[in-house]
Amino acid sequence: MENVLVTGGAGFIGSHLCDFLLEKDYHVICVDNLLTGNEKNISHLLNNENFEFINHNVTKYIKINKSLNYILHFASPASPIDYLELPIQTLKVGSLGTHNTLGLAKEKKATFLLASSSEVYGDPLVHPQPETYWGNVNPIGPRGVYDEAKRFGEAITLAYHRVHKIDTKIARIFNTFGPRMRINDGRVVPNFISQALENKPLTVYGDGSQTRSFCYISDMVDGVYRLMLFNETDPVNLGNPEEMSIIDFAKKIKKLTKSNSKIIFEDLPVDDPKVRQPDITRAKEVLGWRPKVSLDEGLKNTISWFRSSRL
Ligand code: UDP
Repeated sequence: MENVLVTGGAGFIGSHLCDFLLEKDYHVICVDNLLTGNEKNISHLLNNENFEFINHNVTKYIKINKSLNYILHFASPASPIDYLELPIQTLKVGSLGTHNTLGLAKEKKATFLLASSSEVYGDPLVHPQPETYWGNVNPIGPRGVYDEAKRFGEAITLAYHRVHKIDTKIARIFNTFGPRMRINDGRVVPNFISQALENKPLTVYGDGSQTRSFCYISDMVDGVYRLMLFNETDPVNLGNPEEMSIIDFAKKIKKLTKSNSKIIFEDLPVDDPKVRQPDITRAKEVLGWRPKVSLDEGLKNTISWFRSSRL
């Protein structure tokens, strides 16, 4: 049995990864300090003999007594509101946390996978975004703490690959949604769904013409798993290219929830990217991966999860 360590394993994507890996018969070690993760996301795994939970902040030295085959570094605050509230923790987990987890990968001779982000492209001037685009990031804006941490993470990951010859992978993850997102994490999917279910106004920021492309969690986990196994060191975009404006997204949520909510307009956050859509040519070619779950199907699952988890 192979051992996989998942940092941020009690978070949204991390906990789904833990589920998936256990089903594939890996032994899973989940490391999380529960800053934005939640023990509820892994409570169903705590009695599984192939699952271990370690409450630890990966910005501090990590000691693991077992051999490790893979390290998946997913720990980080991941919502724009989190970056505003936790800017230093966001910078530290992306820099010191990535350094520590790379050091662990070196010691254990483990394959290392970094959860990077479409935020490395900032407010992109190239659309859709291929991996070859270097991005347009404001280093000192409120989102800069996340963007620059992820960019540093990519840089140090490739430095460890080049200098220490460790096997590394970089997933550039675009907007992902599904059950276990925090209802109050401030991102558009939980915000609109919870507002619609409570018949409160849906808060569209700016005029809603900015676009995003949303990927369902099961597709994302499948893509990350393939990347973990495939021999590809260059960054790979993972996301669903189905792009839509935020105003259309608000209308879609209203329709799917059959809500009478109004749509209201609020200030656009600083440096909010105007467009975002992954070019997934590389993922298709290298991993044989493409998203399978449509936006509507994924949203229906997510809405019913939010309905039942609020009871
Ligand atoms: N957004 C919005 N209303 C909300 C929350 C977000 O209009 O209540 C917008 C936000 O300005 C951005 C998009 O939805 O343009 C996606 O925001 P999110 O926070 O989900 O993540 P981002 O893609 O910006 O990292």
